[in-house]
Amino acid sequence: MAGKKSAISSMVRKRIFQESNSRCAICENADIAVLDIHHIVSVKDGGADAPENLVVLCANCHRKVTHGFLSREEVLAAKRSASTLGSTARGHQRRSANVVSIGGDVHGSIIANNVHLGTKHLPRPKGHPPGSIGADLPKKNYVDYLIRRYHDFRKADESFGRGERFENYNYAILHKNIERTFKAKTFYIPVHRFAELVAYLLSHIDQTIVGKTNRSREIRNYETYEEYLAKQRFGESSP
Ligand SMILES: [Zn+2]
Repeated sequence: MAGKKSAISSMVRKRIFQESNSRCAICENADIAVLDIHHIVSVKDGGADAPENLVVLCANCHRKVTHGFLSREEVLAAKRSASTLGSTARGHQRRSANVVSIGGDVHGSIIANNVHLGTKHLPRPKGHPPGSIGADLPKKNYVDYLIRRYHDFRKADESFGRGERFENYNYAILHKNIERTFKAKTFYIPVHRFAELVAYLLSHIDQTIVGKTNRSREIRNYETYEEYLAKQRFGESSP
């Protein structure tokens, strides 16, 4: 290929656009003028023109990927999330492959042992407008749960002394990144983007060192929303 742009067949192009509902898989931008197909693993790194390696991105998100603000894993998670949303009508449930992993040896994980207990009460949401995630208490609580989970994983990464690339991580940075990606503060994001926000947080958790280690051992990094709700109902996760 010698640095040349690869040739993706029009059939594959169409399929990839359909998969993401002709929207950017990351930010859902639907402006066709700025959308293009992006190789998740670049052609020069040996990435194929196969649908699994292709995703629709807007120019803006593409730039973020090029400059390393979005990782390959994040793009992949966004692709999976977009394709799940796009295929719901056809009865596919590909998301479950993403979120639900096998229980495995839970005690083999530092995180599974000590972080799960760290469910804390956060201040009650107040003043979030109707239609926002903040105004939907179960969804807000789940987002809180994932944010704390990410925070705890990041803290664990730091204790491994391998968290250098995440210098001075804190909650504010995560919220700022969310705001940049979703163009709204975390709990002001419209509730219809809940799945997208969850996918974003899950991919961040999975990318932590602890998250990757867990995954390699088939240890789950988080509960699904359904599991989380069920536990809340039975009071198991209540602080
Ligand atoms: Zn985008």
